[in-house]
Amino acid sequence: MSDDADSYSRRMALAPARTALSIAQRQFDAAADALGLEDSLRSVLRELKRELVVHFPVEMDDGSFRVFTGFRVQHNIARGPAKGGLRFHPALTLDDVRALAMYMTWKSAVVELPFGGAKGGVICDPKQLSLTELERMTRRFTTEISLIVGPDRDIPAPDLGTGPQVMAWIMDTLSMHAGYSVPAAVTGKPTAIGGSEGRSGATGRGLSTVTVQAMRDRGLDPSDATVAVQGFGKVGCVTAELLAASGMRVVAVSDTSGGCYRGDGLDLVALRTLKEEGGHIEDYGAADRISNDELLRLDVDVLVPAAVEGQITGANAAGVRAHVIAEGANAPVDPEADAILNDRGALVLPDILANAGGVVVSYFEWVQDLQAYFWAAGEVNARLKEVMMRSYHQVHARAEQDAVPLRDAAYRIAVQKVAEATEVRGIYP
Ligand code: GLU
Repeated sequence: MSDDADSYSRRMALAPARTALSIAQRQFDAAADALGLEDSLRSVLRELKRELVVHFPVEMDDGSFRVFTGFRVQHNIARGPAKGGLRFHPALTLDDVRALAMYMTWKSAVVELPFGGAKGGVICDPKQLSLTELERMTRRFTTEISLIVGPDRDIPAPDLGTGPQVMAWIMDTLSMHAGYSVPAAVTGKPTAIGGSEGRSGATGRGLSTVTVQAMRDRGLDPSDATVAVQGFGKVGCVTAELLAASGMRVVAVSDTSGGCYRGDGLDLVALRTLKEEGGHIEDYGAADRISNDELLRLDVDVLVPAAVEGQITGANAAGVRAHVIAEGANAPVDPEADAILNDRGALVLPDILANAGGVVVSYFEWVQDLQAYFWAAGEVNARLKEVMMRSYHQVHARAEQDAVPLRDAAYRIAVQKVAEATEVRGIYP
């Protein structure tokens, strides 16, 4: 390992900056310290392998052209092709994408998928684009990143601001370039073109599975528990419904507009309908209005932050009263908040384990596409449950063994797997 790489990594370790990447690297460093990883290996794993930044023009409906900026970042591919979502968001930065790519490496490793980690996206507000503009933008972005993506190299999937239709355009664009259909090049597609049954609700399903199990292990009775869910989107909505189906009372949910609270339980069907019709949670009449900040501080048993990163920080963590915090979003709890919650004895179910259900079913989708053999919904859900339970038990056992919180345990398992793969492959040439 060169001195340059080593001193760069030392500089980063000392850097006071609190960017998303520096937080991700701090979490990695803690695991690397605990595992006693040697410096050279550490400097490989805490760095991003490959980063592509693209600026590309798109014709708008009025005939003008607008230049968009997009990214695809691969953190590590020692254990298999890179895997991770594409985010369309106006505030997206390269730093966010780097951190999220690193999280994907650990997430794939902790649930034992044969993937590395990647993330990407475009700086844009998809709600401000017409459907045709969104399609042209997606197709051109796909063309720009086609240099590094593909079924054996890097497989995108949905994330914030993207969904099955965007994945369909990506699959079609890559297939047009190849001259034949390449369904395994992207996951989270509609089932009509090789998408998997159960993919759209997979993150929420996996999250509710580990949440219920963790509660039982803590002696909390799910049928006697209350829940608040921040973010009533793809992840939060399904999680709320499945936790309610297992007997819990969902008393609060929110979206970016704000939230609503009802002590005897919310009507989730009515709230889903409201969202599907384009409404906002704060418009819901049959409950009290609350702010997102109030929701985080509710006296509930389970809090599910399922919106975006950085919601529970050193500034507000002392006000969080839930016994279990189940991370539906990526990095919703920062390291200062983590320490405060752990000191209080709260149980934090870490993102790289808790929200891995999405990428688990993405893996199933990729396998089904490669084999051109598709599974029924019941089989997908049963296999998802098996993977989530196995991973949860491994993380739980490691946490007991090392006497550390679940996040540290999950990171130790994940980093160890990626380190082993990197070491056994050796450094080329
Ligand atoms: N975007 C999701 C995540 O952060 C899913 C990634 C995937 O399916 O590849 O886990």
